[in-house]
Amino acid sequence: MTETHYVIVIGGGQAGLAAGYYLRRAALYFLILDAGTHAGGAWQHGWKSLRLFSPAAYSSMPGWPMPARAQGGYPTRDDVIDYLARYEARYELPVQRPVIVHSVVPDSDALVLQTTVGAFRARAVVSATGTWSAPFVPNYPGRQIFGGRQLHSAWYVGPESFAGQNVLIVGGGNSGAQILAELSILARTTWVTEREPLFLPDDVDGRVLFEQATARLRGGPADAPVGGIGDIVMVPPVVDARARGVLTSVRPFTRLTANGAIWPDSAETQVDAIIWCTGFQPALAHLASLGVIEADGRVAVDGQQSVKEPRLWLTGYGDWCGPGSATLVGASRVARELVPKLQAFLSPALS
Ligand code: FAD
Repeated sequence: MTETHYVIVIGGGQAGLAAGYYLRRAALYFLILDAGTHAGGAWQHGWKSLRLFSPAAYSSMPGWPMPARAQGGYPTRDDVIDYLARYEARYELPVQRPVIVHSVVPDSDALVLQTTVGAFRARAVVSATGTWSAPFVPNYPGRQIFGGRQLHSAWYVGPESFAGQNVLIVGGGNSGAQILAELSILARTTWVTEREPLFLPDDVDGRVLFEQATARLRGGPADAPVGGIGDIVMVPPVVDARARGVLTSVRPFTRLTANGAIWPDSAETQVDAIIWCTGFQPALAHLASLGVIEADGRVAVDGQQSVKEPRLWLTGYGDWCGPGSATLVGASRVARELVPKLQAFLSPALS
């Protein structure tokens, strides 16, 4: 542990790479440490049929637009993985993987990162570890005694292993709707949502959502959106599910039993499996050692800079560290804002 880097980025998904692009342009000496074995961040873990709701033109990293799909339509999971792999090669971003950062601790003139390959020192750290490794599952009564299969959407790959089963799909966002759409062809599905899901009109696609979000960022009317980023985009499989009459939801069960679920009217149904499409939390365990994680599971930030530890910067987790920060296009915007501020912060050390 001899060298002190100016900046170490933790995480080599889209948010970490976008930060890397601007760090390179600012000629700051930096490293990216990524826990994954391959490029592509969380997209490597998406289910096989996953398609973006943002078209290629709205899914670009800084400097190099995402190539339009040869066959048209929305990019697939594999399109994004391929794009991110080629992106980091194109800009020769210094990614080391697999390297898991276990902790970050303060030292007098640096932050010290303890990792699976030894310790690193940096004057500043950009944390971009995403949310995929911290899936959220609500604590329904009886969840611990339910004897069937439970799976978060983070680990859902495809419908085949659920064929013929009674499956509860819990969660009213795009993940729940898309998984329900393909699973309902092979299994008996019940879609459980806290309230009636918000479906966008059929002619409103992801493109319109992103245009609305961009307009709001540019100071447009915040009170006239077509929908929120979390509203359900009527992609073809979801339209098909509606045509088959399975795109209907029920309000939650009151508790789980060893073999099933009890509903508010006291009826019990037998359940083989539950797929939790209930979202994610920021993956920040490596920052616990800095004492910066608040009760809500986030880090208090001014822009992207930690209030309690100014050498720590964050990007990619959600709107709390920059509007749209957890989307492809938003990660670029946030990195473009973050790096000049980080450069200014480091400038006494650089001069
Ligand atoms: P990640 O991609 O998770 O990257 C984080 C990286 O950090 C990973 O490589 C991980 O291995 C690494 N890491 C984690 N912990 C450590 C550690 N301790 N040490 C070292 N490395 C670590 N966005 C869009 O723009 N358009 C869409 O259409 C869209 N659709 C989506 C559909 C679904 C179902 C989901 C779940 C998300 C979707 N998103 C979409 C949102 C968003 O683009 C992704 O969540 C994105 O992967 C977040 O990127 P990230 O770089 O912040 O995190």
